[in-house]
Amino acid sequence: MSTSVVETSPAPAENAEAKPGHGLREGAFGNATALACRECGHQVDLGPFYACPECFGPLEVAYAFPTVTRAEIEAGPRNIWRYKALLPVPTDIETSPNTEPGFTRLLEATNLAATLGLEKLWVKDDSTNPTNSFKDRVVACALSAARELGSRVFACPSTGNLANAVAAAGARAGIKTVVFIPSNLETPKVVNSAVFTDSLVAVEGNYDDVNKLASEIAGEEDGWAFVNVNVRPFYAEGSKTLGYEIAEQLGWRLPDQVVIPVASGSQLTKVDKAFQELITLGLVEDKPYKIFGAQATGCSPVSAAFKDGKKVVRPVKPDTIAKSLAIGNPADGPYVLDVCRRTGGVVEDISDDEVREAIVLLARTEGIFTETAGGTTVGVLKKLVETGQLDTSLETVVINTGHGLKTLDAVADRVAPAATIAPTYAAFAATGLA
Ligand SMILES: *Cc1c(COP(=O)(O)O)cnc(C)c1O
Ligand SMILES: [Zn+2]
Repeated sequence: MSTSVVETSPAPAENAEAKPGHGLREGAFGNATALACRECGHQVDLGPFYACPECFGPLEVAYAFPTVTRAEIEAGPRNIWRYKALLPVPTDIETSPNTEPGFTRLLEATNLAATLGLEKLWVKDDSTNPTNSFKDRVVACALSAARELGSRVFACPSTGNLANAVAAAGARAGIKTVVFIPSNLETPKVVNSAVFTDSLVAVEGNYDDVNKLASEIAGEEDGWAFVNVNVRPFYAEGSKTLGYEIAEQLGWRLPDQVVIPVASGSQLTKVDKAFQELITLGLVEDKPYKIFGAQATGCSPVSAAFKDGKKVVRPVKPDTIAKSLAIGNPADGPYVLDVCRRTGGVVEDISDDEVREAIVLLARTEGIFTETAGGTTVGVLKKLVETGQLDTSLETVVINTGHGLKTLDAVADRVAPAATIAPTYAAFAATGLA
């Protein structure tokens, strides 16, 4: 890598080479230089901080990127660490014990495209990550930060998938891990966390209650790295790898349209950040692209704000089967509105019945079993086509963020054996399936 510096927004501080906070080893955060406020641009040292001391706006990682070439990235491992130069992680990250999510398949969805009337459609299938959701990406980056910061405890409030990813990564890293979930979660998501840790805490309340409790604990206890609270800026950067991979797997170019589920809104905004960085670094050609957000109507505060032309998101009380998207007060909601409006996309929502229908649609057309979040995204894609909000002649990518085995109940009463028969030929012949 050469050392010429490419600036990306937010611009690095004048003291771009400023040392990270005390006690950190050199290069602990790779090419990251500071945490910058998304609202006022104020910068603070890299550390376990998430709110701007000036205006309380959210902090985001700022970098001074060296020149990065396609060849350097392609020579890397087939996981997210091939993009380590673009992440707040040390250069030796591949060799330190950690999880290796990413480089999931980008599948050309010809059957689904034909069914929906789209010319070219891809599914970015993140259900094949180590704990079967895209959360392994963000957790890997948060774990790196927790290690570099010398955190004692690795923790999170979660709607389910994050708990699975944190519990698994924490077990492998041998760090004390405590995860907090709403007590009404789907059984598979509870078991998928509990199997990795004996410190799973079920909280009587919804995700927003669990999140509030986590912030309180983070304030009271020293040395806790709550992946999506006090190390959130580092965690969030992991979602950029979805954007990098989509571009690289398309042959180093950007798609025309991307449909992304929205819970806190972090993933959607980071896919956009990834595309912007690839353009700035000259790794892809600059071209217009549209980003679309997907929510379930039972928790659609961002979609509602989009449709009302609002800049702020009014919190709601979630009531939907899409529990992994059930964040009533989404931290990145306003930034999702910005990205979708700026790129010419929209935020749309569908009913729980449409979510169930879309899970079966994706399964029967592409052989992919998605969870309710993916049902939401595919169902919104369908609605966008039917309502003319998405251009069917343009190349489209839909992101599948999780696995259907975690939300079996959602479709358990829709799909069943065609017949239950005696083990005889006559009984089979009578079914009409021959
Ligand atoms: C967490 C999650 C999302 C959305 O994440 P945000 O970045 O908070 O918007 C989408 N799909 C699944 C399956 C998730 O677990
Ligand atoms: Zn600020």
